[in-house]
Amino acid sequence: MTIKPGFGGPGSYLIGEEEKRELMEVIDSGYLFRYGSEDDPRFKRKVVTLEKEFATLLGVKYAVAVNSGTSALLTCLTALGIGPGDEVIVPGYTFIASISSIIVARAIPVLAEIDESLTLDPEDIRKKITPQTKAIMPVHMLGNPCHMDVIMDIAREHKLFVIEDCAQSAGGSFHGKRLGNIGDLGEFSLNIFKTITAGDGGIVVTNDYNLYERAFGFHDQGHKPLRTGVEVGKRSMVGMDFRMNELTGAVALAQIRKIDWILSLLREKKKKLKEAISGIPGIGFRTINDEKGECATLLTLLFPDEKTASAFGEKAGTKTLSHSGWHVYNNMEQILQKKTATLYPCPYDCPAYGKEIEYYAHMLPKTDKILDRAINISVGVVDKGLGSGFGVNIQSPDEEIEAVAKKITTIMKEIS
Ligand SMILES: *Cc1c(COP(=O)(O)O)cnc(C)c1O
Repeated sequence: MTIKPGFGGPGSYLIGEEEKRELMEVIDSGYLFRYGSEDDPRFKRKVVTLEKEFATLLGVKYAVAVNSGTSALLTCLTALGIGPGDEVIVPGYTFIASISSIIVARAIPVLAEIDESLTLDPEDIRKKITPQTKAIMPVHMLGNPCHMDVIMDIAREHKLFVIEDCAQSAGGSFHGKRLGNIGDLGEFSLNIFKTITAGDGGIVVTNDYNLYERAFGFHDQGHKPLRTGVEVGKRSMVGMDFRMNELTGAVALAQIRKIDWILSLLREKKKKLKEAISGIPGIGFRTINDEKGECATLLTLLFPDEKTASAFGEKAGTKTLSHSGWHVYNNMEQILQKKTATLYPCPYDCPAYGKEIEYYAHMLPKTDKILDRAINISVGVVDKGLGSGFGVNIQSPDEEIEAVAKKITTIMKEIS
């Protein structure tokens, strides 16, 4: 492997012969659309094969490939019929797409706290449930599975849907079950910064045929799954065009076949790095909710206080998660200082919402305090926007891991 990208997710470092072979098959055939005639030798069936193999990998019944993680989330929400007046509980530490997809569905995002795992705090979910709550959207942030056992219990108790945002956790698992296969629907992203990539793209998964049919229809102008059967004249719903094309499908197919290999490499590297810096006074780690199942894309340090974390960040040339940009609600100017109805304004009267929530900086004090103390060290996801510009990558040899561990040790000596 000769590529040295310098940033991006682990999959983007491992674009190679396999991706090229799948892609060239499509280019050589000259046929780029996801649907084709079974007896047409030009039709290479990459997208449909991707859907089948990904479903098998996860142990789910159905998968729908789409053009991004964001459209996958909107597809999940729409499949569940979530809309005006419905509240969806989502963490304040996530990528904006988790929140914006709820807004564009014209539902109400209800921001909830995270705990020291940097994923949804179950206690706060309970506090945020109202009669209007329809769904919980746990985000397996930075590859760490959410507390899915407790979250599923809460959901059952209150009859809520669960949409797993697995954009940052492809291939991970919780208590032996792959992420995405636990809630009602799961969403994945194939963007360059994720575990595996096709540049952009997304996948929706579910075990429920009804939801599959609705998700498929929404992503493809209301058609029945795979456009089998006669659909014209019988389309029961309207939809969008969020379809994936064969070029993306080809690359994605080669990448999903590498998932378990990628995760094993990351876990090995993370273990080495973590062991090398464990025991240094002042260094702690975020809670991992499932050590075997987490993706090990990053190593998150949790310092005793903000001062130590900031000092560490300055010396390492990185920032605490509070200041890492994109993924913190305090930095989402699109939603701050706004009320529900003005989140997504329309030029005429906005649809009536159940209630008005105001979104403002520091509305989640527990989340703020945790992010103030946290620093991301890259293992496989090298992304300044995620606060992980410092660390190693999936191609780093042992010497590089040792050098980073040494630097961390030196910094801790200097600042303590
Ligand atoms: C990246 C990401 C998304 C959106 O995926 P895109 O493919 O970029 O649209 C959604 N949720 C989370 C948590 C993400 O990290």
